[in-house]
Amino acid sequence: MAGAFDPVAPPLENGMPAVKEGDTSLRVGLGFDAHRFARRRPLVLGGVRVRERDGLLGHSDADVLAHAVMDALLGAAGLGDIGTLFPETDPELAGADSLGLLATVARLLAEQGWALINVDAVVICEEPRIAPYRAAMRARLAAAMGVGVDRVSLRGTTTEGLGFTGRGDGIAAQAVVLIGPAATEERP
Ligand SMILES: [Zn+2]
Repeated sequence: MAGAFDPVAPPLENGMPAVKEGDTSLRVGLGFDAHRFARRRPLVLGGVRVRERDGLLGHSDADVLAHAVMDALLGAAGLGDIGTLFPETDPELAGADSLGLLATVARLLAEQGWALINVDAVVICEEPRIAPYRAAMRARLAAAMGVGVDRVSLRGTTTEGLGFTGRGDGIAAQAVVLIGPAATEERP
């Protein structure tokens, strides 16, 4: 370790060290989703019913946060995307509880021998404020995926009035996940 933190350090002399042997099967996944606002719909974020009006438009319950997490999980495992897995043309999915879909995705990963290491997600909107609902959203998402709440990190941010979220046209969400091979004894 170098001594004092240098804010403008030169590049590493020998480059970034190699990943430890045996840890190379970790996979990272990125998810992004956005939905526009719709007055007569309830707002559901991270499985929490935030309000009964001014929600988001979508075939399912339009839970933009759950969708971003699902896409990140599917991406990490190389299992495609939610549009393929849960087609918008499927009448059975109209108004579907996205936490149920998330649970399905988590089950799919577990069946493929993957374990979730952690999720980090950001909800991007001018309103509502995410902080008051954060603990409940983390708990709901974690429960749907069958992991401890400590593995799910979440925060809200604004774009300071810029872009479609800034204008209040809708809400966007981003998520990254890290997965690794499940311990053999935990396999279903
Ligand atoms: Zn979506």
